[in-house]
Amino acid sequence: MNYRQARWERETDDGETVAEPLLSEKGTETVTHEASSLPDDLTRDELTLPELSEPEVAGHYTRLSQMTYSIEHGPYPLGSCTMKYNPKFTEDVAAIDDGAIHPDRPDEFAQGTLELLYGLQAFLADVGGMDEVTLQPPAGAAGEFTGLQVAKAYHRANGEHEQRREVVVPASAHGTNFATAALAGYDVVEFPAGEDGRVNVEALEDAVGDATAALMLTNPNTIGLFERDIEEIADLVHDAGGLLYYDGANLNALLGRARPGDMGFDIMHYNVHKTFASPHGGGGPGAGPIGVVDDLAAFLPDPHVRETDDGEYELYEPENSFGKVHGFHGNWLVLLKTYAYISRLGDSGLKDTSAMAVLNANYLASQLDLEIPYGPFHHEFVASAGDTDAAEFAKGMLDEGVHPPTTKWPAIVDEALMTEPTEALSKDQLDLLADAFAAAGQKSDEELAAAPETTAAARIDQTSAARNPRLSWRDLEVADD
Ligand SMILES: *Cc1c(COP(=O)(O)O)cnc(C)c1O
Repeated sequence: MNYRQARWERETDDGETVAEPLLSEKGTETVTHEASSLPDDLTRDELTLPELSEPEVAGHYTRLSQMTYSIEHGPYPLGSCTMKYNPKFTEDVAAIDDGAIHPDRPDEFAQGTLELLYGLQAFLADVGGMDEVTLQPPAGAAGEFTGLQVAKAYHRANGEHEQRREVVVPASAHGTNFATAALAGYDVVEFPAGEDGRVNVEALEDAVGDATAALMLTNPNTIGLFERDIEEIADLVHDAGGLLYYDGANLNALLGRARPGDMGFDIMHYNVHKTFASPHGGGGPGAGPIGVVDDLAAFLPDPHVRETDDGEYELYEPENSFGKVHGFHGNWLVLLKTYAYISRLGDSGLKDTSAMAVLNANYLASQLDLEIPYGPFHHEFVASAGDTDAAEFAKGMLDEGVHPPTTKWPAIVDEALMTEPTEALSKDQLDLLADAFAAAGQKSDEELAAAPETTAAARIDQTSAARNPRLSWRDLEVADD
Protein backbone atom coordinates (compact mmCIF):
# COMPACT_ATOMS: atom_id res chain seq x y z
CA MET A 1 0.00 0.00 0.00
CA ASN A 2 1.30 3.42 -0.90
CA TYR A 3 0.02 5.56 1.89
CA ARG A 4 0.57 9.10 3.08
CA GLN A 5 -1.47 10.89 5.68
CA ALA A 6 -2.09 14.60 5.24
CA ARG A 7 0.04 16.85 7.41
CA TRP A 8 -1.01 20.45 7.89
CA GLU A 9 1.69 22.58 9.37
CA ARG A 10 2.50 26.23 9.12
CA GLU A 11 5.26 28.51 10.14
CA THR A 12 4.51 31.14 12.75
CA ASP A 13 5.94 34.69 12.67
CA ASP A 14 8.68 33.45 15.02
CA GLY A 15 9.74 30.85 12.48
CA GLU A 16 8.32 28.01 14.54
CA THR A 17 6.55 25.15 12.78
CA VAL A 18 3.20 24.37 14.34
CA ALA A 19 0.57 21.79 13.50
CA GLU A 20 -3.00 22.76 12.71
CA PRO A 21 -3.80 25.27 15.47
CA LEU A 22 -6.82 24.95 17.73
CA LEU A 23 -9.81 27.09 16.89
CA SER A 24 -9.20 29.06 20.06
CA GLU A 25 -5.69 29.81 18.85
CA LYS A 26 -6.89 30.85 15.40
CA GLY A 27 -9.54 33.31 16.35
CA THR A 28 -9.11 34.86 19.75
CA GLU A 29 -11.52 37.71 19.45
CA THR A 30 -14.29 37.84 21.93
CA VAL A 31 -17.80 37.52 20.64
CA THR A 32 -20.05 40.28 21.90
CA HIS A 33 -23.73 39.65 22.19
CA GLU A 34 -26.30 41.80 20.55
CA ALA A 35 -29.27 42.74 22.67
CA SER A 36 -31.27 39.68 23.54
CA SER A 37 -34.86 39.16 24.52
CA LEU A 38 -33.74 37.07 27.51
CA PRO A 39 -33.77 38.73 30.94
CA ASP A 40 -30.51 40.54 31.78
CA ASP A 41 -29.64 38.29 34.67
CA LEU A 42 -29.67 35.29 32.34
CA THR A 43 -27.30 36.70 29.73
CA ARG A 44 -23.61 37.50 29.58
CA ASP A 45 -22.17 40.48 27.75
CA GLU A 46 -19.12 38.69 26.58
CA LEU A 47 -18.31 35.19 25.56
CA THR A 48 -14.76 34.04 24.94
CA LEU A 49 -15.45 32.10 21.79
CA PRO A 50 -13.16 32.39 18.79
CA GLU A 51 -14.72 34.51 16.07
CA LEU A 52 -14.29 32.52 12.87
CA SER A 53 -16.17 32.08 9.62
CA GLU A 54 -17.96 28.86 8.75
CA PRO A 55 -15.41 27.89 6.04
CA GLU A 56 -12.60 28.35 8.56
CA VAL A 57 -14.30 26.05 11.04
CA ALA A 58 -15.27 23.44 8.42
CA GLY A 59 -11.74 23.54 7.00
CA HIS A 60 -10.24 23.03 10.44
CA TYR A 61 -12.22 19.88 11.13
CA THR A 62 -11.70 18.54 7.62
CA ARG A 63 -7.93 18.96 8.00
CA LEU A 64 -8.00 17.24 11.38
CA SER A 65 -9.91 14.34 9.84
CA GLN A 66 -7.15 14.03 7.23
CA MET A 67 -4.50 13.92 9.93
CA THR A 68 -5.99 10.99 11.73
CA TYR A 69 -6.98 7.41 11.09
CA SER A 70 -10.42 6.06 11.84
CA ILE A 71 -12.72 3.14 11.28
CA GLU A 72 -14.04 5.14 8.31
CA HIS A 73 -10.62 4.87 6.65
CA GLY A 74 -10.07 1.16 6.85
CA PRO A 75 -9.09 -1.84 8.98
CA TYR A 76 -8.81 -1.22 12.72
CA PRO A 77 -8.09 -4.71 14.08
CA LEU A 78 -7.65 -3.89 17.79
CA GLY A 79 -8.21 -7.15 19.64
CA SER A 80 -10.70 -7.03 22.51
CA CYS A 81 -12.07 -3.78 21.11
CA THR A 82 -14.33 -5.06 18.31
CA MET A 83 -13.77 -2.02 16.13
CA LYS A 84 -16.48 -2.84 13.62
CA TYR A 85 -17.73 -0.38 11.05
CA ASN A 86 -20.74 1.51 12.39
CA PRO A 87 -23.43 1.54 9.73
CA LYS A 88 -24.69 5.01 8.89
CA PHE A 89 -28.39 4.24 9.15
CA THR A 90 -28.07 4.04 12.92
CA GLU A 91 -26.86 7.64 12.93
CA ASP A 92 -29.97 8.68 10.98
CA VAL A 93 -32.12 6.95 13.57
CA ALA A 94 -30.34 8.67 16.44
CA ALA A 95 -30.76 12.04 14.73
CA ILE A 96 -34.57 11.96 14.86
CA ASP A 97 -36.09 15.11 16.34
CA ASP A 98 -37.79 13.29 19.17
CA GLY A 99 -34.45 11.83 20.20
CA ALA A 100 -33.83 14.97 22.22
CA ILE A 101 -36.69 14.18 24.58
CA HIS A 102 -36.38 15.58 28.11
CA PRO A 103 -35.66 12.72 30.50
CA ASP A 104 -38.16 14.07 33.03
CA ARG A 105 -41.05 13.98 30.59
CA PRO A 106 -43.91 12.09 32.26
CA ASP A 107 -44.16 8.45 31.24
CA GLU A 108 -47.52 8.93 29.54
CA PHE A 109 -45.94 11.39 27.08
CA ALA A 110 -42.80 9.32 26.56
CA GLN A 111 -44.37 6.05 25.54
CA GLY A 112 -42.36 5.72 22.31
CA THR A 113 -39.05 6.20 24.09
CA LEU A 114 -39.96 3.81 26.87
CA GLU A 115 -41.13 1.22 24.37
CA LEU A 116 -37.75 1.36 22.61
CA LEU A 117 -35.88 1.09 25.89
CA TYR A 118 -38.07 -1.81 26.94
CA GLY A 119 -37.57 -3.44 23.56
CA LEU A 120 -33.81 -3.11 23.85
CA GLN A 121 -33.84 -4.59 27.34
CA ALA A 122 -35.66 -7.57 25.84
CA PHE A 123 -33.34 -7.84 22.80
CA LEU A 124 -30.25 -7.88 24.98
CA ALA A 125 -31.76 -10.29 27.49
CA ASP A 126 -32.48 -12.62 24.60
CA VAL A 127 -28.97 -12.31 23.15
CA GLY A 128 -27.35 -13.06 26.52
CA GLY A 129 -29.81 -15.60 27.91
CA MET A 130 -30.53 -13.27 30.84
CA ASP A 131 -33.87 -12.49 32.50
CA GLU A 132 -33.60 -8.72 33.02
CA VAL A 133 -31.38 -6.02 31.56
CA THR A 134 -30.65 -2.50 32.76
CA LEU A 135 -29.45 0.01 30.19
CA GLN A 136 -28.11 2.52 32.68
CA PRO A 137 -24.31 1.97 32.81
CA PRO A 138 -22.47 4.26 30.37
CA ALA A 139 -19.54 1.94 29.51
CA GLY A 140 -18.29 -1.61 29.84
CA ALA A 141 -16.31 -0.84 32.99
CA ALA A 142 -19.35 0.92 34.44
CA GLY A 143 -21.35 -2.21 33.62
CA GLU A 144 -18.86 -4.32 35.53
CA PHE A 145 -19.14 -1.96 38.47
CA THR A 146 -22.93 -2.09 38.31
CA GLY A 147 -22.82 -5.88 38.12
CA LEU A 148 -20.71 -6.12 41.24
CA GLN A 149 -23.01 -3.69 43.07
CA VAL A 150 -25.88 -6.03 42.22
CA ALA A 151 -23.86 -9.01 43.46
CA LYS A 152 -23.03 -7.14 46.64
CA ALA A 153 -26.67 -6.18 47.26
CA TYR A 154 -27.66 -9.82 46.71
CA HIS A 155 -25.12 -11.16 49.20
CA ARG A 156 -26.08 -8.44 51.64
CA ALA A 157 -29.75 -9.43 51.38
CA ASN A 158 -28.70 -13.01 52.19
CA GLY A 159 -26.66 -11.86 55.17
CA GLU A 160 -23.44 -12.99 53.52
CA HIS A 161 -21.88 -9.69 52.55
CA GLU A 162 -19.47 -9.58 55.49
CA GLN A 163 -18.23 -13.07 54.69
CA ARG A 164 -17.88 -12.70 50.91
CA ARG A 165 -14.99 -10.31 50.52
CA GLU A 166 -13.33 -11.67 47.39
CA VAL A 167 -13.75 -11.46 43.64
CA VAL A 168 -11.85 -14.08 41.67
CA VAL A 169 -10.33 -13.02 38.34
CA PRO A 170 -8.17 -15.03 35.91
CA ALA A 171 -4.73 -13.58 35.22
CA SER A 172 -5.61 -13.12 31.55
CA ALA A 173 -8.67 -10.94 32.27
CA HIS A 174 -9.16 -7.44 30.91
CA GLY A 175 -7.63 -4.83 33.21
CA THR A 176 -11.02 -3.36 34.01
CA ASN A 177 -12.05 -6.60 35.80
CA PHE A 178 -9.31 -6.18 38.42
CA ALA A 179 -9.96 -2.46 38.71
CA THR A 180 -13.72 -2.91 39.03
CA ALA A 181 -13.42 -5.52 41.75
CA ALA A 182 -11.04 -3.29 43.71
CA LEU A 183 -13.19 -0.19 43.19
CA ALA A 184 -16.23 -2.09 44.41
CA GLY A 185 -14.32 -2.74 47.64
CA TYR A 186 -13.43 -6.40 47.10
CA ASP A 187 -10.15 -8.19 47.55
CA VAL A 188 -9.01 -9.37 44.14
CA VAL A 189 -7.93 -13.00 43.93
CA GLU A 190 -6.02 -13.69 40.74
CA PHE A 191 -5.48 -17.20 39.45
CA PRO A 192 -3.20 -18.34 36.62
CA ALA A 193 -4.26 -19.83 33.28
CA GLY A 194 -3.53 -23.46 32.47
CA GLU A 195 -0.95 -24.64 29.93
CA ASP A 196 -3.50 -24.55 27.13
CA GLY A 197 -4.47 -20.93 27.80
CA ARG A 198 -7.81 -21.85 29.39
CA VAL A 199 -9.00 -21.77 33.00
CA ASN A 200 -7.16 -24.36 35.03
CA VAL A 201 -10.02 -25.85 37.05
CA GLU A 202 -7.69 -27.03 39.81
CA ALA A 203 -6.18 -23.57 40.22
CA LEU A 204 -9.71 -22.21 40.33
CA GLU A 205 -10.74 -24.68 43.03
CA ASP A 206 -7.99 -23.27 45.21
CA ALA A 207 -9.12 -19.71 44.58
CA VAL A 208 -12.87 -20.18 45.18
CA GLY A 209 -14.46 -20.67 48.61
CA ASP A 210 -16.67 -19.24 51.36
CA ALA A 211 -15.23 -15.78 50.84
CA THR A 212 -16.02 -15.67 47.13
CA ALA A 213 -18.56 -13.04 46.11
CA ALA A 214 -18.11 -13.64 42.37
CA LEU A 215 -15.91 -15.01 39.63
CA MET A 216 -15.41 -12.69 36.65
CA LEU A 217 -14.77 -14.49 33.40
CA THR A 218 -15.02 -14.01 29.66
CA ASN A 219 -15.69 -16.76 27.15
CA PRO A 220 -14.16 -17.01 24.58
CA ASN A 221 -11.34 -15.72 26.76
CA THR A 222 -8.92 -12.94 25.87
CA ILE A 223 -6.87 -15.19 23.60
CA GLY A 224 -10.00 -16.16 21.71
CA LEU A 225 -10.31 -19.67 23.19
CA PHE A 226 -13.60 -21.16 24.30
CA GLU A 227 -13.63 -22.29 27.93
CA ARG A 228 -14.83 -25.84 27.37
CA ASP A 229 -15.13 -26.53 31.09
CA ILE A 230 -17.52 -23.67 31.65
CA GLU A 231 -20.29 -25.83 33.14
CA GLU A 232 -17.90 -27.38 35.63
CA ILE A 233 -16.56 -23.91 36.45
CA ALA A 234 -20.10 -22.60 36.99
CA ASP A 235 -20.97 -25.49 39.33
CA LEU A 236 -17.80 -24.95 41.29
CA VAL A 237 -18.56 -21.27 41.91
CA HIS A 238 -22.26 -21.81 42.61
CA ASP A 239 -21.55 -24.65 45.03
CA ALA A 240 -19.31 -22.27 46.95
CA GLY A 241 -22.19 -19.74 47.09
CA GLY A 242 -20.60 -17.28 44.67
CA LEU A 243 -22.01 -15.65 41.55
CA LEU A 244 -20.69 -15.88 38.00
CA TYR A 245 -20.01 -12.63 36.23
CA TYR A 246 -19.57 -12.67 32.45
CA ASP A 247 -17.47 -9.99 30.81
CA GLY A 248 -19.49 -9.66 27.62
CA ALA A 249 -17.68 -6.67 26.14
CA ASN A 250 -16.94 -8.67 23.01
CA LEU A 251 -19.85 -10.88 22.03
CA ASN A 252 -18.85 -11.21 18.41
CA ALA A 253 -18.01 -14.90 18.67
CA LEU A 254 -21.26 -15.82 20.38
CA LEU A 255 -23.98 -13.72 18.75
CA GLY A 256 -26.94 -15.92 17.87
CA ARG A 257 -25.06 -19.12 18.76
CA ALA A 258 -24.32 -19.42 22.45
CA ARG A 259 -25.54 -17.49 25.47
CA PRO A 260 -23.74 -16.74 28.73
CA GLY A 261 -26.99 -17.37 30.62
CA ASP A 262 -27.10 -20.92 29.26
CA MET A 263 -23.50 -21.46 30.37
CA GLY A 264 -24.44 -20.71 33.97
CA PHE A 265 -23.56 -17.02 34.26
CA ASP A 266 -25.69 -14.89 36.61
CA ILE A 267 -24.62 -11.38 35.60
CA MET A 268 -23.09 -9.99 32.42
CA HIS A 269 -22.38 -6.73 30.70
CA TYR A 270 -22.69 -5.89 27.03
CA ASN A 271 -20.58 -3.25 25.31
CA VAL A 272 -22.91 -1.74 22.77
CA HIS A 273 -19.96 0.32 21.48
CA LYS A 274 -18.21 -2.91 20.55
CA THR A 275 -20.57 -5.71 19.63
CA PHE A 276 -23.56 -3.59 18.64
CA ALA A 277 -21.97 -1.05 16.34
CA SER A 278 -22.33 2.19 18.19
CA PRO A 279 -19.19 4.25 17.81
CA HIS A 280 -16.40 4.07 20.35
CA GLY A 281 -15.90 7.61 21.52
CA GLY A 282 -12.78 9.11 23.04
CA GLY A 283 -13.99 7.81 26.37
CA GLY A 284 -17.64 8.02 25.50
CA PRO A 285 -20.46 8.18 25.14
CA GLY A 286 -20.93 4.45 25.02
CA ALA A 287 -23.21 2.13 26.93
CA GLY A 288 -22.56 -0.98 28.97
CA PRO A 289 -25.96 -2.48 29.85
CA ILE A 290 -25.96 -5.42 32.23
CA GLY A 291 -28.14 -8.50 32.27
CA VAL A 292 -28.99 -10.57 35.33
CA VAL A 293 -30.89 -13.74 36.16
CA ASP A 294 -34.28 -13.52 37.90
CA ASP A 295 -32.89 -13.85 41.43
CA LEU A 296 -30.93 -10.64 40.98
CA ALA A 297 -33.49 -8.53 39.13
CA ALA A 298 -34.79 -6.83 42.28
CA PHE A 299 -31.36 -5.26 42.91
CA LEU A 300 -30.99 -3.51 39.53
CA PRO A 301 -30.52 0.26 39.26
CA ASP A 302 -33.38 2.71 39.40
CA PRO A 303 -35.19 3.50 37.10
CA HIS A 304 -36.08 0.37 35.17
CA VAL A 305 -38.65 0.09 32.36
CA ARG A 306 -41.52 -2.38 32.42
CA GLU A 307 -44.68 -3.06 30.48
CA THR A 308 -47.95 -2.73 32.38
CA ASP A 309 -50.95 -5.02 32.03
CA ASP A 310 -52.55 -2.42 29.72
CA GLY A 311 -49.64 -2.58 27.30
CA GLU A 312 -48.23 0.77 28.46
CA TYR A 313 -44.62 1.33 29.47
CA GLU A 314 -43.54 2.82 32.78
CA LEU A 315 -40.49 3.52 34.85
CA TYR A 316 -40.21 1.99 38.29
CA GLU A 317 -37.69 1.44 41.02
CA PRO A 318 -36.80 -2.23 41.44
CA GLU A 319 -37.73 -3.44 44.93
CA ASN A 320 -34.24 -3.68 46.40
CA SER A 321 -32.41 -1.42 43.95
CA PHE A 322 -28.88 -0.66 45.05
CA GLY A 323 -29.18 2.88 43.58
CA LYS A 324 -27.98 4.51 40.38
CA VAL A 325 -24.83 4.59 38.30
CA HIS A 326 -25.95 7.24 35.81
CA GLY A 327 -28.70 9.82 35.42
CA PHE A 328 -32.01 8.54 34.12
CA HIS A 329 -31.81 5.66 31.60
CA GLY A 330 -28.17 5.99 30.58
CA ASN A 331 -26.94 7.19 27.19
CA TRP A 332 -30.25 7.02 25.39
CA LEU A 333 -29.14 8.03 21.89
CA VAL A 334 -26.34 5.45 21.96
CA LEU A 335 -28.90 2.88 23.05
CA LEU A 336 -31.15 3.94 20.20
CA LYS A 337 -28.37 3.10 17.71
CA THR A 338 -28.07 -0.32 19.32
CA TYR A 339 -31.80 -0.86 19.02
CA ALA A 340 -31.65 0.08 15.34
CA TYR A 341 -28.68 -2.18 14.69
CA ILE A 342 -30.16 -5.25 16.36
CA SER A 343 -33.60 -4.83 14.85
CA ARG A 344 -32.17 -4.32 11.35
CA LEU A 345 -30.01 -7.45 11.62
CA GLY A 346 -32.55 -9.68 13.33
CA ASP A 347 -31.80 -13.20 14.51
CA SER A 348 -30.28 -14.37 11.26
CA GLY A 349 -28.19 -11.21 10.83
CA LEU A 350 -26.71 -11.56 14.31
CA LYS A 351 -25.89 -15.16 13.54
CA ASP A 352 -24.21 -14.15 10.28
CA THR A 353 -22.22 -11.57 12.21
CA SER A 354 -20.62 -14.13 14.49
CA ALA A 355 -20.01 -16.49 11.56
CA MET A 356 -18.23 -13.79 9.57
CA ALA A 357 -16.31 -12.50 12.59
CA VAL A 358 -14.91 -15.97 13.29
CA LEU A 359 -14.27 -16.71 9.61
CA ASN A 360 -12.47 -13.40 9.11
CA ALA A 361 -10.22 -13.93 12.14
CA ASN A 362 -9.34 -17.43 10.97
CA TYR A 363 -8.76 -16.36 7.36
CA LEU A 364 -6.52 -13.49 8.38
CA ALA A 365 -4.55 -15.72 10.74
CA SER A 366 -4.03 -18.22 7.92
CA GLN A 367 -2.41 -15.48 5.81
CA LEU A 368 0.15 -14.46 8.43
CA ASP A 369 3.70 -15.60 8.74
CA LEU A 370 3.69 -15.26 12.55
CA GLU A 371 3.43 -17.75 15.36
CA ILE A 372 -0.04 -18.03 16.91
CA PRO A 373 0.61 -20.15 20.00
CA TYR A 374 -2.97 -20.81 21.12
CA GLY A 375 -6.02 -22.12 19.28
CA PRO A 376 -8.49 -22.98 17.96
CA PHE A 377 -9.55 -19.39 18.37
CA HIS A 378 -12.80 -17.66 17.50
CA HIS A 379 -13.34 -13.97 16.72
CA GLU A 380 -9.77 -12.92 17.58
CA PHE A 381 -6.31 -14.41 17.83
CA VAL A 382 -3.07 -13.47 19.51
CA ALA A 383 -0.03 -13.68 17.25
CA SER A 384 3.51 -13.22 18.55
CA ALA A 385 5.92 -10.71 17.04
CA GLY A 386 8.66 -13.14 18.10
CA ASP A 387 12.01 -11.42 18.65
CA THR A 388 10.60 -8.08 17.64
CA ASP A 389 9.08 -5.71 20.16
CA ALA A 390 5.33 -5.81 19.50
CA ALA A 391 4.95 -2.05 19.84
CA GLU A 392 7.71 -1.49 17.26
CA PHE A 393 6.07 -4.03 14.96
CA ALA A 394 2.86 -2.02 15.25
CA LYS A 395 4.67 1.20 14.31
CA GLY A 396 5.89 -0.59 11.19
CA MET A 397 2.31 -1.42 10.22
CA LEU A 398 1.20 2.22 10.37
CA ASP A 399 3.09 3.06 7.18
CA GLU A 400 0.91 0.55 5.33
CA GLY A 401 -2.22 2.63 5.90
CA VAL A 402 -3.87 0.40 8.48
CA HIS A 403 -4.32 0.57 12.21
CA PRO A 404 -2.24 -2.05 14.04
CA PRO A 405 -3.63 -4.63 16.46
CA THR A 406 -3.61 -4.40 20.25
CA THR A 407 -0.05 -4.96 21.46
CA LYS A 408 1.61 -6.59 24.47
CA TRP A 409 -1.59 -7.98 25.93
CA PRO A 410 -2.50 -10.57 27.09
CA ALA A 411 0.87 -11.29 28.69
CA ILE A 412 0.47 -15.04 28.19
CA VAL A 413 1.81 -14.56 24.63
CA ASP A 414 5.28 -13.02 24.17
CA GLU A 415 5.19 -9.75 22.23
CA ALA A 416 1.48 -10.18 21.70
CA LEU A 417 -0.35 -8.84 18.66
CA MET A 418 -3.98 -9.32 19.61
CA THR A 419 -5.94 -9.14 16.41
CA GLU A 420 -9.67 -8.85 15.81
CA PRO A 421 -10.67 -8.01 12.25
CA THR A 422 -14.46 -8.19 12.93
CA GLU A 423 -17.15 -9.21 10.48
CA ALA A 424 -17.06 -5.81 8.79
CA LEU A 425 -13.96 -6.43 6.63
CA SER A 426 -14.13 -7.81 3.10
CA LYS A 427 -11.59 -10.33 1.80
CA ASP A 428 -9.82 -7.50 0.00
CA GLN A 429 -9.44 -5.55 3.26
CA LEU A 430 -8.27 -8.66 5.09
CA ASP A 431 -5.62 -9.19 2.40
CA LEU A 432 -4.55 -5.57 2.78
CA LEU A 433 -4.17 -6.14 6.49
CA ALA A 434 -2.20 -9.35 5.93
CA ASP A 435 0.12 -7.40 3.59
CA ALA A 436 0.64 -4.83 6.33
CA PHE A 437 1.63 -7.55 8.81
CA ALA A 438 4.02 -8.97 6.21
CA ALA A 439 5.55 -5.55 5.45
CA ALA A 440 6.17 -4.86 9.14
CA GLY A 441 7.61 -8.35 9.56
CA GLN A 442 10.17 -7.67 6.81
CA LYS A 443 11.45 -4.43 8.33
CA SER A 444 14.76 -4.41 10.18
CA ASP A 445 14.92 -3.08 13.73
CA GLU A 446 16.41 0.17 12.38
CA GLU A 447 13.59 0.55 9.89
CA LEU A 448 11.02 -0.11 12.59
CA ALA A 449 12.69 2.44 14.85
CA ALA A 450 12.26 5.04 12.09
CA ALA A 451 8.60 4.18 11.49
CA PRO A 452 6.08 5.58 10.96
CA GLU A 453 7.19 7.94 8.22
CA THR A 454 3.88 8.53 6.50
CA THR A 455 1.62 9.63 9.34
CA ALA A 456 0.85 13.17 10.45
CA ALA A 457 2.25 12.49 13.90
CA ALA A 458 4.84 9.90 14.84
CA ARG A 459 6.19 8.53 18.09
CA ILE A 460 4.11 10.67 20.37
CA ASP A 461 4.66 10.40 24.11
CA GLN A 462 1.98 7.81 24.80
CA THR A 463 2.23 7.98 28.57
CA SER A 464 1.69 11.73 28.71
CA ALA A 465 -1.08 11.48 26.13
CA ALA A 466 -2.87 8.95 28.33
CA ARG A 467 -2.12 10.45 31.72
CA ASN A 468 -2.22 14.20 31.05
CA PRO A 469 -4.67 14.68 28.22
CA ARG A 470 -5.80 18.21 27.52
CA LEU A 471 -9.32 17.69 26.37
CA SER A 472 -10.52 21.26 26.36
CA TRP A 473 -9.18 24.61 25.21
CA ARG A 474 -9.80 25.69 28.78
CA ASP A 475 -7.05 23.29 29.91
CA LEU A 476 -4.78 24.91 27.37
CA GLU A 477 -5.48 28.33 28.82
CA VAL A 478 -4.69 27.05 32.31
CA ALA A 479 -1.44 25.50 31.05
CA ASP A 480 -0.43 28.77 29.37
CA ASP A 481 -1.02 30.85 32.48
C1 LIG B 1 -13.41 -3.08 26.31
C2 LIG B 1 -13.49 -4.10 27.35
C3 LIG B 1 -13.95 -3.78 28.65
C4 LIG B 1 -14.26 -2.37 29.11
O1 LIG B 1 -15.18 -1.66 28.33
P1 LIG B 1 -15.21 -0.06 28.32
O2 LIG B 1 -16.46 0.31 27.61
O3 LIG B 1 -13.96 0.37 27.62
O4 LIG B 1 -15.21 0.41 29.74
C5 LIG B 1 -14.06 -4.81 29.55
N1 LIG B 1 -13.71 -6.06 29.23
C6 LIG B 1 -13.26 -6.42 28.00
C7 LIG B 1 -12.91 -7.85 27.71
C8 LIG B 1 -13.13 -5.45 27.03
O5 LIG B 1 -12.67 -5.76 25.83
